Amino acid sequence: MKEVILCKYGEIVLKGANRGWFENMLCRRINECAGYYGNFKVYRAQSTVFIEPIDESSDLDGVYEAVQRIFGIIAVCRAVVAAKDMDSILDTAVEYIPKFLAGKKSFKVEAKRSDKSFPLNSIEIAKQVGTALHAACPGIAVDVHTPEVVVRVEIREFGAYIHAGQLPGAGGLPVGSNGRGLLLLSGGIDSPVAGWMMAKRGVLVESLHFESFPYTSERAKEKVMALTRILARWAGDIDLHIVSLTRIQEELKRTCNEEYFTLLLRRYMMHIASRVARARDCGALITGESLGQVASQTLQAIAVTDAVAGLPVFRPLIGLDKEEIIRLARRIGTYDTSILPYEDCCTVFTPRHPKTRPQIERVLAEERKLDFNSLAAGAEATLETIRIRAEY
Ligand code: ATP
Ligand code: MG
Repeated sequence: MKEVILCKYGEIVLKGANRGWFENMLCRRINECAGYYGNFKVYRAQSTVFIEPIDESSDLDGVYEAVQRIFGIIAVCRAVVAAKDMDSILDTAVEYIPKFLAGKKSFKVEAKRSDKSFPLNSIEIAKQVGTALHAACPGIAVDVHTPEVVVRVEIREFGAYIHAGQLPGAGGLPVGSNGRGLLLLSGGIDSPVAGWMMAKRGVLVESLHFESFPYTSERAKEKVMALTRILARWAGDIDLHIVSLTRIQEELKRTCNEEYFTLLLRRYMMHIASRVARARDCGALITGESLGQVASQTLQAIAVTDAVAGLPVFRPLIGLDKEEIIRLARRIGTYDTSILPYEDCCTVFTPRHPKTRPQIERVLAEERKLDFNSLAAGAEATLETIRIRAEY
């Protein structure tokens, strides 16, 4: 018996003339993921990408679990392939399916015939397979309304595929099909989720972390690397850039009104991030801001920081509550790492009373006390890049 994985895609089928391009991008992502687990042949037909093991050592269980994190796929199933005749289909179903019915109360069979030259129609196929399975597993009832297991027989171009249910895929669009974006990645809960949401819409993500060594520790940096590694399981390889804000923070503390520290720092972040993004061919910045969550995320504060961004800023969490963000972080797998207690540069020299409704003129007046461009350039010169390889 030959087992394969079927990845079915959704939104891509709506793409007109560009559809092939999206499909190739999806195959590329699936290939990268499958390659991590051994030797597989990856090909597509009829809105499905097939993953077929080439040799015994290929880890099909591993790929089956991992492709559920590949964006662009709406459903994943593990199926056995039979020749396209009723005898093979029945023999294969009776050999393969019973283990999925063990301990279950009811099942039904559905058939789909995309190869219309097959002599039986879907109702007849389903009926014959159902009867054979019921004979093989007499203890389990047939229930066409609310079955515990749905067995599917799909008569396709290259063969008949039989499986006992499919799992939801990650949805979205294949990573890389919607340009590149630079994620401002802190060690917190929100920004990894923001990066994940944009990767889900097809953005190839790079990340930029600002540190403030020695005020922030080596552990904080390791935490950000760990978060990036988790994100890479969904988004593929990620270039993680690290920039030091130590000098800027010290100058801010020495020179500026404390109430404006956070805002001024965030303007430096946006400015530096925009420059890094442009140099790396990224078309947007991505942040984990959620409206009103903290003082620097009020409408007025966002306007003040947005004003220095030279690129569109994507804030996919802007309308989400913390609870909703946490739920996503748990699903993605970043939550437990995010809550590790290491200092972030934003918590160094935090003002006791930050401005929640800043006026841009006052912020600019504070900012003029410093040589903005040369401080920013100095920070940019500390940039170090680490390539985080996806461990699917
Ligand atoms: P997060 O949970 O993502 O840290 P937060 O709720 O702590 O967010 P802020 O500290 O105000 O909120 O940060 C808002 C956004 O600014 C973050 O989501 C992130 O995109 C960016 N950011 C904050 N700190 C850093 C940092 N040290 N390096 C890179 N980006 C940062
Ligand atoms: Mg934070």
